[in-house]
Amino acid sequence: MSESLRRVGVLGGTFDPLHLGHLRAAEVARDELSLDRVVLVPAANPPHKAGAPVTEAAERARIMEVALADETGFVVSKIEIERGGPSYTMDTLSSLSTQHPDWELFFITGSDAFAEIRTWSRWETLLASFSFVVNERPGSEGVQVLEVVPESLRERVSVFRRAMLDVSSTDIRRLVRQGCSIRFLVPDHVADYVREHRLYVE
Ligand code: ATP
Ligand code: MG
Repeated sequence: MSESLRRVGVLGGTFDPLHLGHLRAAEVARDELSLDRVVLVPAANPPHKAGAPVTEAAERARIMEVALADETGFVVSKIEIERGGPSYTMDTLSSLSTQHPDWELFFITGSDAFAEIRTWSRWETLLASFSFVVNERPGSEGVQVLEVVPESLRERVSVFRRAMLDVSSTDIRRLVRQGCSIRFLVPDHVADYVREHRLYVE
């Protein structure tokens, strides 16, 4: 008996830390495309790299799992952390579709990330193989999203701009460093965890 295809969004990122802008982006994609669920995929820590995330991958993932424990539509996957090495989206989506042949995958990005797509590993194969959802992120409105890729690869890229939130992990880390509150910019668990464990203070 064959199961019907599930529509699954995938939101990759560093999530250092997870904030409401990420969840809003996932929610808009879920709503617009009638997705059954969105899988959030924290990237592994880049080995020996300047500008690397300041929080260990396993800790970033654990914070997300607790923060999203009651959200049935959003789940966290540690596929990139378990794989280790560089977190290439092409590898992640290929593995997910092999592991879950009943999933139709939609990769979700912000327009800032999508603007860099031509620097991604095997980007042409990636765009030819999977559907993309690009959320126009405040601050990146100038990016002509579809002009980034050749016309032949635009077919499976949808662009949305529906009340995205103007918040980034960089903003959150800066606010904490300055001793400012991050409540109502991140899930409550994230705010509590960051305070209790003194993340981003130095
Ligand atoms: P940093 O400031 O550290 O780069 P970030 O806020 O950009 O963090 P990432 O983990 O780098 O978060 O982003 C993961 C994905 O989520 C990317 O595709 C990014 O464009 C998207 N994204 C992040 N914040 C938003 C937002 N506020 N609205 C829409 N998309 C977002
Ligand atoms: Mg970013």
